[in-house]
Parts: sequence; C-alpha cells; structure tokens
Amino acid sequence: MDKIVPAQYQPPLPLDTLILQDGAEGAGDRMELDVLIVGAGPAGLACAIELARLAKADGAELNIGVLEKAEALGEHSLSGAVVNPRAFRELFPDLKDSDFPFRAPVAKEAVYLLTAERRWRLPTPPSMRNHGNYIGSLCEVVRWLGAKAEALGVNVFTGFPAAQLLVRDAAVAGVRTAPAGLDRDGKPTPGGTAPNDLVAKVTALAEGTRGLLAQAWCQWQRVPSENPQIFALGVKELWETKQPLDRVIHTLGWPLPSDAFGGSFVYPLEPNLVALGLVVGLDYRDAALDVHVLLQRLKQHPLLRALLAGGEMVEWGAKTIPEGGFYSLPERRSGAGVVLLGDAAGFVDVPSLKGIQYAMHSGIYAARAIFQNLKNGAALAEYDRLVDASYIAGDLYRTRNMRLAFRDGFYLGGIQAALMTVTGGRFPNGKYRMHADAEVARRLSPGLRPGSAETPDGVSKVDAVFKSGNSTRDTIPSHLIPAKDVPVEVARFYAHVCPAGVYEAIDGGLRINAPNCVDCKATDVLGPRWTPREGGSGPKYKRM
Ligand SMILES: Cc1cc2nc3c(=O)[nH]c(=O)nc-3n(C[C@H](O)[C@H](O)[C@H](O)COP(=O)(O)OP(=O)(O)OC[C@H]3O[C@@H](n4cnc5c(N)ncnc54)[C@H](O)[C@@H]3O)c2cc1C
Ligand code: SF4
Repeated sequence: MDKIVPAQYQPPLPLDTLILQDGAEGAGDRMELDVLIVGAGPAGLACAIELARLAKADGAELNIGVLEKAEALGEHSLSGAVVNPRAFRELFPDLKDSDFPFRAPVAKEAVYLLTAERRWRLPTPPSMRNHGNYIGSLCEVVRWLGAKAEALGVNVFTGFPAAQLLVRDAAVAGVRTAPAGLDRDGKPTPGGTAPNDLVAKVTALAEGTRGLLAQAWCQWQRVPSENPQIFALGVKELWETKQPLDRVIHTLGWPLPSDAFGGSFVYPLEPNLVALGLVVGLDYRDAALDVHVLLQRLKQHPLLRALLAGGEMVEWGAKTIPEGGFYSLPERRSGAGVVLLGDAAGFVDVPSLKGIQYAMHSGIYAARAIFQNLKNGAALAEYDRLVDASYIAGDLYRTRNMRLAFRDGFYLGGIQAALMTVTGGRFPNGKYRMHADAEVARRLSPGLRPGSAETPDGVSKVDAVFKSGNSTRDTIPSHLIPAKDVPVEVARFYAHVCPAGVYEAIDGGLRINAPNCVDCKATDVLGPRWTPREGGSGPKYKRM
C-alpha cells in the first residue's frame, strides 16, 4: 500500500437508524414543544432568545426547548475566539459592548510567516483585520447566552444528545435522544434511562460542525451543495503565561508542510492568559500528519517559546471547522418542519476565521421565519431568503474561492488568494471544484512520521485528554463505527487524525479507546463514523 483514500474505509452514514418514524417503539417519555432547538451553541441560543422575545412582544405563549449534549452549558464549546460583536448588538440593542461576555477589545495584531527558526511580519490582509472585534471564550459566551435564554422562559435541557430525527412523511417532527446507562455491549443497566422523544412544530438543527442530524436530513431529502463540505481540525491550548501578550497573533507556514492549508492563532484573553491553537485543513496529503503533534512542535518556535517559558498549560481541546464556504452551503437550509443553523449549515468565513456572528445571525433569522410560520403559516423558506439577502451570504460569496485555492498548495494558493482579495473576489471567474476530504489520497511516507518523541516539552495525547476535563464513564459502549477489517496502515492514519488518542494501530488492525473522544468530529470526516453517546460524556471545557 503506498497511499490511502480514506473514503474507501469509511462506512456510509447510518441513515436507516438516523431517520425514524415518529411514534416508533422504544422511547421512554414523550414531550411536545412548539419549537425544538438541537445544540446550545451561539446559533441555537440566539435563535431561542430572538424567538422568545418575538413571542413575548406578540403576547403569545411559545414552548421552546433547547437540547444540549454537554452536561452543562458551554462544556462542549470551543472556538478561538476573536468575536465580531455585530450579532450581539442586534440581539441585545439595549446593551453596550461592555455588557457583553467578552474579555477585551483587540488592541493590536500581527501576522507572521514562520520558518523553523525565523519569522517575517506580513502586512495584515484585510480579511484578518480585527480592529473593533473582541477577544473572548466561547464557553463563557455560551453560558451568558444560556442565562439570557432561560430568563426569557426557554427550557434548556443539558446532558441530552439528540440521536435520531423523528419524521412524518417528508417532514421533521422532532428528535429521539440517546439512551443513558448502557453497558459496554450496549445493553441497558438497572440505573439507565431509555431514550426520550421530543416533538415540535419546528426543529432547528444547530448542532455545530459536522452536525449528524443535519447531514442525515440533507441526505434523506437529497439536498445538494455545489461542492461537498470540507473541514479543518483545530487543536487548542490555554496557557497561563509569565510573559504578557498585548496583541492578537496569526501565523502561517512552519510547521505545516506546504501541501497543507492552515495556520495558528494566539489570542490573549488576559495579558497572562493566552489561547493558542493550530488549524489544519483535513485535505492534507501526508497520512502521518498529526495536528496535535504539529501544535506541540509549533510551541518550540522562538516566537512562542519565549511567550510560554515558565508558563502552564491549563486547558486543552479540539474541534473541526466547516471550511467549504459559499459553494458548500446546502442548496436550502430549510424544509418541512426544519431549519439548519450556524456551523451545521456551514456559515463560516475561513479567511477571517469567523463563525460566531454568522451562527448567531442565522439563529436570529431562523427565529423570525419560525415565528411567522407558527403565527400565520408562512413558509420556513423565508429563513433561506433572509440569510441569502444578508451579510452572511454576502461575506461568504466575497471569499468564495479563497480557501479552495489552497487545494493547490500553500504558495500557489497564497498568490491566488491575494488576487482574490485585490479583486474583491472577482478573480477567478467561476468556482473551484473540491473533493470531499475523505476522497483525497494520502501518501504513506515512513520518513515523514512526526511522533510525540520529537516534542520533548510537548503534551502527550493522554495528558491532553485529561486537560480537556473529559471524565467519560469507562464502561460506556463505543459510539464510533469503523469499517470491518481496517488495515494497519489505515489504523495508523486514524491514530494521527485523532487528537485525543482514541485510535491505536495494533497487530490485528485498530483498537478504539472510545471514552477518550472529545467530539471534535474529525473522525466522522475521515474515519469511523461518530454517533452521539450518553449525555454528559466528553470534554468539560471551561474557558475554551
Ligand atoms: C479552533 C477554532 C477556532 C475558531 N475561532 C473563531 C474565532 O476566533 N472567531 C469566530 O467567530 N469563530 C471562530 N470559530 C468558529 C466558531 O467557533 C463557530 O463557527 C461557532 O461556534 C458555530 O456556532 P454553532 O452554534 O453553529 O455551533 P457550536 O458552537 O459548535 O455549538 C453546537 C452545540 O451543539 C451541541 N450538539 C452537537 N450535536 C448535538 C446533538 N446531537 N444533540 C445535542 N447537542 C448537540 C454541541 O455540544 C454544541 O454545544 C473557530 C472554531 C474553531 C474550532
Ligand atoms: S474519535 Fe474522532 S471525534 Fe473523537 S476526538 Fe478522536 S477524531 Fe475527534
């Protein structure tokens, strides 16, 4: 074997279990709501807040429920984050910027091109200018938004993962949650709980990146996109430092190979509390590339070594980002009884590394369309119209080919992206065609295998999982679905893909340490399928 095409070893999406007729046997309780929102991220919570406000202003009673798989709000939230406050201002017109849950305004910024020992300061590209934006922690933002939603009477159910879409004919009727308390073989234990059915007039899928139910709905309803969605994996550490940092930093180049797309971010939440992350497109070509290991290597660069010297890594986490942009958006993000919000729809602008304001605004627009739908039967397609007429579609259209140009490598991509910036997106005429990440062939190159041994001061994957706060029950059944008989070369590839050390290549092929999983979803993009597991499993992020 000299190359791997991951799609050849990836089981199909298990549509037969993901789409379930409403009323099917097996549920414990059944709850009826007006609107059900799956995912308490910025998209889902902004939707809940706007909807509750519209109902209140109209004197209407709306029963709104938000389901979240994390045990507590924000525990599965991870971002950079530099936040554009635009959606906050619209959602809370009576509040000032200083009332929002941000840590500090962006005061200064710098972009560097790195080689192993040196750095060159580059002029900040317009898409990466952050003047007027704020540095924050998505965990804190989500907890704050959650409190606002609850104050308006929204029911937030944490520790409840939605596992299946309930449907009636071609319409979405709600979701069935994952059961809890199963043993390793998937059998119920005495203290366990059966799944619950939550049915609603409208279900908003705001599950974030690589949303399982959003994928299932698009496949089931055959909703295409011009390009397949593509993803990047971001691995992030939070450091308490001895040296203060006074600016937002982005880096390009080393330690990434030139045929991989990505870069790092270094954001000071406080002068001595620094968020540091590396984001790499999952269409990289070397089967041995390992984003977690590359982040450890990045920390050896003089720029970061000086900043982190004497400091302590206090939190670690990982998550994927939908990177396809405009051409990867589903043709429609609404259907009978359903809307798709935020990352689950793909509303991320990669050149600026921004998704939070688009997620929140998509939630606001969805709320307006849902409210009219419930009040006077207006079609949910109004949501698509509002998004398409908004700055969400405008911004994504302007940068539509920028990320895609990097499929040809860093240098060629850089030149093309610069031309796109100068021409306001008009160069090139037309669209770059993309393959799904799993379709991209990976070369097996034994000489290029980055291992943890190369990073003496680095963090091992085992320590990293500990720092994510993950305390998933060891006796939980595996929620990951691999292909049968995975060759050892592919198992090794999975071991590099997963930042949390879930996969190990062993003599017989693949070993899966499922409880380590932090739900970053990279596996679902390139390897075994991810499915929701017992509520409250996974990381417990505090300030990510
Ligand atoms: C490393 C990294 C850096 C980033 N930096 C920035 C930045 O600096 N600025 C910026 O604006 N954006 C940034 N982004 C993007 C931004 O974080 C996302 O676009 C944004 O969080 C999307 O919001 P969302 O509500 O759609 O999804 P999410 O924030 O992912 O929220 C989805 C929620 O749904 C829950 N969920 C998922 N599945 C289920 C289920 N089946 N049942 C119940 N609950 C479920 C999840 O646990 C989660 O809480 C970054 C992303 C990453 C990964
Ligand atoms: S198993 Fe998959 S989803 Fe879980 S941490 Fe590893 S790569 Fe991420």
